[in-house]
Amino acid sequence: MATQAGLLPIFFVENPDGTIDGVAGADSIAPPPTNPRLWCHHCNTQLEFAAGASYVQCYLCRTMNAVLSGSQVGGRTMNMLCTVCGTSNLAPWGTAYVRCGQCNTVSDVTHIYNTGAGSMQA
Ligand SMILES: [Zn+2]
Ligand SMILES: [Zn+2]
Repeated sequence: MATQAGLLPIFFVENPDGTIDGVAGADSIAPPPTNPRLWCHHCNTQLEFAAGASYVQCYLCRTMNAVLSGSQVGGRTMNMLCTVCGTSNLAPWGTAYVRCGQCNTVSDVTHIYNTGAGSMQA
């Protein structure tokens, strides 16, 4: 009945009127899993996403955000339309070469960065 060292005692928080309010020593209760979050780079909405995801689409403005390790803000993305099979491939903004997920063709996409800033079409 003695509490062993290393074991957290669980005790109830009792209100003055005798009702039980909750459980203290709550380390034994696993907190709900928290998903990683980032902020939409376009509209600054906080987005929750599943761990391991590479891209998160903003539910407000439909902008795709690239998940960047170490960044709380989503990265810009761009869409590469494969010239061979027509598949649209998502890549982080700034990527010079994008490999098509469908046919593995590697396309040089550097030309899209030279067409003027801020003219990205959705
Ligand atoms: Zn957004
Ligand atoms: Zn392709």
